[in-house]
Amino acid sequence: MKATAAFGLDAKYVMQTYARKPILFVSGKGMRLFDDEGAEYLDFVSGIGAVNLGHSHPAVCEAIARQGKRLTHVSNLYYVEHRAELAEELSGLFDGGTRRVFFSNSGTEANEGAIKLARRFAQDRHPGAFKVVTAERSFHGRTLATLAATGQAAKQERFLPLPEGFSHVPLNDIDALDAALDETVAALLLEVVQGEGGVFPANAGYLSAAEQLCRERGILLMIDEVQTGFFRTGPAFAHQAFGLMPDVVTVAKAMANGLPVGAVIACEEVAEAFMPGDHGSTFGGGPLVCAAARATLRALSDEQCGRNALSAGAYLQARLGELMQGFPLISDVRGAGLMVGCSLTEPVAAEVVGMLLRRGLLVNNIGANIIRFLPPLLCKTAEVDTLCANLEEVLVEVCA
Ligand SMILES: *Cc1c(COP(=O)(O)O)cnc(C)c1O
Repeated sequence: MKATAAFGLDAKYVMQTYARKPILFVSGKGMRLFDDEGAEYLDFVSGIGAVNLGHSHPAVCEAIARQGKRLTHVSNLYYVEHRAELAEELSGLFDGGTRRVFFSNSGTEANEGAIKLARRFAQDRHPGAFKVVTAERSFHGRTLATLAATGQAAKQERFLPLPEGFSHVPLNDIDALDAALDETVAALLLEVVQGEGGVFPANAGYLSAAEQLCRERGILLMIDEVQTGFFRTGPAFAHQAFGLMPDVVTVAKAMANGLPVGAVIACEEVAEAFMPGDHGSTFGGGPLVCAAARATLRALSDEQCGRNALSAGAYLQARLGELMQGFPLISDVRGAGLMVGCSLTEPVAAEVVGMLLRRGLLVNNIGANIIRFLPPLLCKTAEVDTLCANLEEVLVEVCA
């Protein structure tokens, strides 16, 4: 189908919840994407941090093809290949390796599951505790409960009333957290680096103080690693760089390199709060996505993606830092590993993104003032150089 025909069909038949860019992508390989006319793009979005191994990774494609021909779905009423193996492998990414997993189909559902698990756990241990505290500017998803957890009024306003039991505290403010964690609170849910909120990292002191407060008060520490997980920031999970031991971790995005899958990963004691019938999913943990996720996990560690995320990410931040010296339009560069953002002093982020797109470079803006870079984790310095050379020319134009 021609791109213009596809745009017309989309406008007519697809709910318009996204202001899509006018490109029709048909294939990809590694960092590269190709449109319907064969034009090549360098991808610094990776499907919003989902395609950490790059597009069409051979081992993942092979796993999908093999399992797709064998068996795709029978539901959670029965055992299937790959589900328990994947759970063991996910658990193995944590100290001790004794965590248990609930499989969902997305990040939103993983967080929804974590919120239900926290309430269920509190029912027996701390009657009266049911609230979940999260950070301002956080993002935890789009279902009503995860939207209520999300600390962004602009995303909530048009869907009131939201489920109760959520409150928000400013990130990196220990006193505010101390005051918020009262006896009605079942869990604290945090991102180590806020993604959709604009790439804002939590600081080390805050994270360990938060863990300490949770331990003292019997409140669950839950970390949303939906965007930071699977080596995006260096370690398998971003919280591991700070030596945290969260009770519950939620993941999704990069887990099967682009197939829809998510998970709640909880320590044994908390996981046991869920009894048969308490929670479920028709598709979650199906053999197709689990086979793809296992191939993804294997390739992520074989190819030392975490190590490259750290080195390429440091290089990207350094190059953006150089641009910041020359362009006062850039007011801040920040992030962790290959999750990098920069703030602009003027509301021209969308314009910069559009100009880069016309030059064959995919980056993403968050709101009017923030540009975000989330390339696949095997991104090379040469590709960062290409990005920054183009960005420099675009900034010259924008500032003219
Ligand atoms: C993307 C994201 C979600 C929601 O994941 P979906 O798969 O889109 O439902 C939740 N939390 C964080 C931190 C995210 O980045």
